[in-house]
Amino acid sequence: MNIVVQKYGGSSVSDTNKIKFVANKVKNKVYEGYKVVVIVSAMGETTDNLIKLANEISNKPHPRELDMLLTTGEQISVALLSMALIDLNVKTKSLNAFQAGIFTTSDFTKARIQKFKVSRIINLLKENDVLVITGFQGITEEGDYTTLGRGGSDTSAVAIAAALNSECEIYSDFPGIYTFDPRKYPDAKKLKFVTYDEMLEMSSLGARVLHSRAIEVAKKYNLKVYCASTFTEEEGTYVVADNIENPVVTGMSVMENQTQVTITNIPFNHDIIYNIFDKIAQKGFNVDMISIININEKLNVSFTIIEEEMENFDNYLKEALNDLQVTYEHGYAKISVVGIGMRTEKGVASRFFKALEDIPIRMVTTSEIKISCLLEKKYLDIATRAIIKEFEL
Ligand code: ASP
Ligand code: MG
Repeated sequence: MNIVVQKYGGSSVSDTNKIKFVANKVKNKVYEGYKVVVIVSAMGETTDNLIKLANEISNKPHPRELDMLLTTGEQISVALLSMALIDLNVKTKSLNAFQAGIFTTSDFTKARIQKFKVSRIINLLKENDVLVITGFQGITEEGDYTTLGRGGSDTSAVAIAAALNSECEIYSDFPGIYTFDPRKYPDAKKLKFVTYDEMLEMSSLGARVLHSRAIEVAKKYNLKVYCASTFTEEEGTYVVADNIENPVVTGMSVMENQTQVTITNIPFNHDIIYNIFDKIAQKGFNVDMISIININEKLNVSFTIIEEEMENFDNYLKEALNDLQVTYEHGYAKISVVGIGMRTEKGVASRFFKALEDIPIRMVTTSEIKISCLLEKKYLDIATRAIIKEFEL
């Protein structure tokens, strides 16, 4: 059996005409000789609207009930797409997570897929040309519905493709993955290849191209993922283990709304530092770009958080730190460049800093394949242009 998994995002099924369009696209794949497993997200803004409803009912919707509610979104789109396919004389069936046997952990709203009833899917594929399966949802051993976190349909698709050992295609309203955000910078270039590691860095940097868990699963199973547009025939981007073209810098990403938090005059004591970060992590705050400076046996600790978290963060820090002094500075942005070529190529950092030589940089962090720096937002425009030029992005 020649199986392909295709995933269609919410904007590709946001109305009934688009659903009919998708049905035709799926039918064409069947005509090419494939058995198609289609994973679908909820129509358009459905999930957002369901979350709004839940928040109108309760300040703190119970996670199990929230998942029970959110899974309805995907159930609507699979049934409608199946109907459209049946009208095109395609043999198909829609399945939810219970019917498809997608088992997850019981961490409601952020469950992880554990196993599939692969034999059931294979058997159903013998009788049908297409199976339309709900993305984003799973069930626990106890039979409760779960969801995989926002954007989780990508992960459903990649995990099913890995389990079936099949090809995987992710369709959205974007024709592929770009050197930087094409919504903000229209001259961004589309990439032909991008590696799992680059994508993982990019998604943690805020580029919302693929659910990061989906990339982790693809990497684990060495599954090539093709990302392309639902509505055009333009060649998309392959997410792969290695890129033969091996560019030094593949992409750039920008995160605005960064606040720099500085805690000064901390007594030189590792327990205190450990405690600060441990408590922050337990509260679920995301801190980034940490720097610790020792001045005359007193420590100054700086790190960044996103601006929206600032208020909660401040309330919390006041409790946690007693009399330590905290300052906040707003209006920063983080620019990062990512590329697996950095592993072997020397001098990337010097090119990066040379490009930004006229700009005051506040903080820097690096990994094996990434360099990030924090700067004032007013320099963002010149800085991004300098980097695009230097690395020919
Ligand atoms: N419908 C879910 C969401 O909007 C899952 C997905 O789209 O992947 O987050
Ligand atoms: Mg969605």
